[in-house]
Amino acid sequence: MCDVIELAKYTKELSKLLTSSGNILLICHINPDGDAIGSQLALYHYLKARGKSVKMIAPNYLQEFLKWMDGVDKIDIFTKDRKKCRKIINEADLILLLDFNQPSRLGEAEDVVIASKARKVIIDHHLNPQKFAELIISDPSLCSTSELVYELVCEIEQSQFMSQPYAEALYVGIITDTGNFEYGSYSSRTFRIVADLFETGLDKIKILNFIYNNYSADRIRLEGFALNKRMVVIPEYKTAYIYLTKDDLKEYNHVKGDTEGFVNLPLTIKDIYFSTLFIEKEGFVKLSFRSKGQFPSNEFASQYFYGGGHLNASGGEYPGTLDGAISYFLEVLKKNVWRFEDNL
Ligand code: 5GP
Ligand code: MN
Repeated sequence: MCDVIELAKYTKELSKLLTSSGNILLICHINPDGDAIGSQLALYHYLKARGKSVKMIAPNYLQEFLKWMDGVDKIDIFTKDRKKCRKIINEADLILLLDFNQPSRLGEAEDVVIASKARKVIIDHHLNPQKFAELIISDPSLCSTSELVYELVCEIEQSQFMSQPYAEALYVGIITDTGNFEYGSYSSRTFRIVADLFETGLDKIKILNFIYNNYSADRIRLEGFALNKRMVVIPEYKTAYIYLTKDDLKEYNHVKGDTEGFVNLPLTIKDIYFSTLFIEKEGFVKLSFRSKGQFPSNEFASQYFYGGGHLNASGGEYPGTLDGAISYFLEVLKKNVWRFEDNL
């Protein structure tokens, strides 16, 4: 989509909406990652610089490692202050929905956002958007929603908009969605964008330390335990999985976000092309999938686990016990193993 002519089709409409709206709300998905918050804050800084009235909501919470970001204190959390957030949603005349394309990703905020009379725009890079907004700006070929925001703002302005908080926010989105340029669909264009972001004097080391060198001791001990005691490698299926029970998490004083990244670790094993993380929750199991090559982890997630996502990174749920989830996973994996042979 991001050749400029294609993009112009969308930005014309978006630009009109931005200009004509008095109260703009930026809302991201539940359990927001660096790209969700990065794209949200970048748009916040851009729209504020244009003199717009802008509010931000995150559906449930903010991860510790993102709390240093400029403007993050302006994000209201729906589940922490429902009354205030409902009011913000109802007063908005334009809602930009960032880094997701299914209304259920709004968590508890879904009903009130969907019912609001505001005009709605999805800005996202996941496959197969559902149509719950009047304008859908979606480009799954981009590494991150943050990259898309950069392109949209350039196109709207017909020149580059830049400020340090804006650059930092976009950089966080790009590095977190690509695992610091390890995976995902980044391109030569991504590096040109990053080069522009660096021109602001962006402190790359500071940001790396906030994002990657910011764990608690319990968190890395849990990682060691997960790899040592809870990882199962199935070489004949080119697959490895990790499971964590509620008790495991309790023992390591788990806080939300601690298991982020665990699912990527088994993919560093030679000849392992598919990795799954099972986390036992109250009454269900949360699954994360990662693949290397062409194995469509998102199809696997949507076909068997009520989920979705990207080709190489997706997630879903199993409504039952951890044992049940693992047995069902192994059963359906067996049916899909042929795909590894063809597609690597
Ligand atoms: P993670 O494994 O980091 O939680 O999620 C990886 C990707 O999978 C995310 O980009 C997200 O879009 C997608 N994803 C994770 N969980 C779900 C889910 O339950 N439903 C859907 N549709 N997508 C999910
Ligand atoms: Mn993203």
